[in-house]
Amino acid sequence: MSSNQVITQLSVLSLPKVTEGKVRDLYTVDENTLLFVTTDRISAYDVVMRNGVPDKGALLTQQSAHWFRILAEKVPGLKTHFLTTDVPAAVRADEAEIIRHRSMQVRKLRVFPLEAIVRGYVTGSAWKEYKAHGTVHGTPLPPGLRECDAVPGGPIYTPSTKAPLGQHDENISKERAAEIVGEKYAKRIEDLALRVFRAGQEHALERGIIIADTKFEFALDEETDDVVLVDEVLTSDSSRMWPKDKYEPGRDQESFDKQFLRNWLTENGLKGKAGVEVPEDVLRATSDRYKEVFRRLTGKTLEETLQG
Ligand code: ATP
Ligand code: MG
Repeated sequence: MSSNQVITQLSVLSLPKVTEGKVRDLYTVDENTLLFVTTDRISAYDVVMRNGVPDKGALLTQQSAHWFRILAEKVPGLKTHFLTTDVPAAVRADEAEIIRHRSMQVRKLRVFPLEAIVRGYVTGSAWKEYKAHGTVHGTPLPPGLRECDAVPGGPIYTPSTKAPLGQHDENISKERAAEIVGEKYAKRIEDLALRVFRAGQEHALERGIIIADTKFEFALDEETDDVVLVDEVLTSDSSRMWPKDKYEPGRDQESFDKQFLRNWLTENGLKGKAGVEVPEDVLRATSDRYKEVFRRLTGKTLEETLQG
């Protein structure tokens, strides 16, 4: 078993570090391969909390791995960056012990500087915009929608920029997205994002979970000219997920993601403040939500999954 400790900082000294994201640290395995190490760090409103969520790194890693396998089956022609959750042989045994279950080897690719956001429900910032202007991402939606209603006509693609650390992502038009990534790829990214989202929604709904919205990232395989699904996918960090049996439009939903933490931050006037020490019970409750969605989606508890 891997260490059950909550880990917010770690260093794999046996591999060169490429970069440190808000939640994950990236290392070079070889010319074509990266190692993603997911810590237990949690970010909300674009800033990272001081302490971490128990088991989060393993949960996100295993859930993404699960989705990569499911989506590759459900979406014909889909390419993903996923290789394996095995720790590379070059990692020292003592370090391997620590990162086992929270690491994933992926193909190193050129990531498009775009957040491919898909929204199936009118919630969060989309609900705010709709309430104020009757639009979502600048596009008018029919009047009379309630908070958390499904988007009439099905999920919509609402891209944003990928802001550097410390800055906020900005909504952009599809025209602007095309300027950033090129016309040819913009269309393929949009099309893939919507197809992957619908496939994921369908799979989750059969397991009692509504995926309300999500953020995907895509990259270019320069050798084959393929647009490839990368980063984490359909996790509680990147998506809003709601229990179907408790779904009721007209109000905010109880959710399986970091909404619980976000609410606690807002209520305590800590929204957007970096390095907040989050109370143990809030972290525990967040961990429980991540675990519950994991169990429902994969049909196994995290412990069962890790035992193989
Ligand atoms: P957040 O997701 O909270 O906004 P972040 O994006 O700054 O944080 P992480 O998610 O912690 O960072 O780290 C993952 C980083 O790795 C992202 O910058 C992502 O674009 C990049 N990435 C994902 N997949 C690949 C890949 N296959 N090749 C190269 N880089 C990748
Ligand atoms: Mg990220």
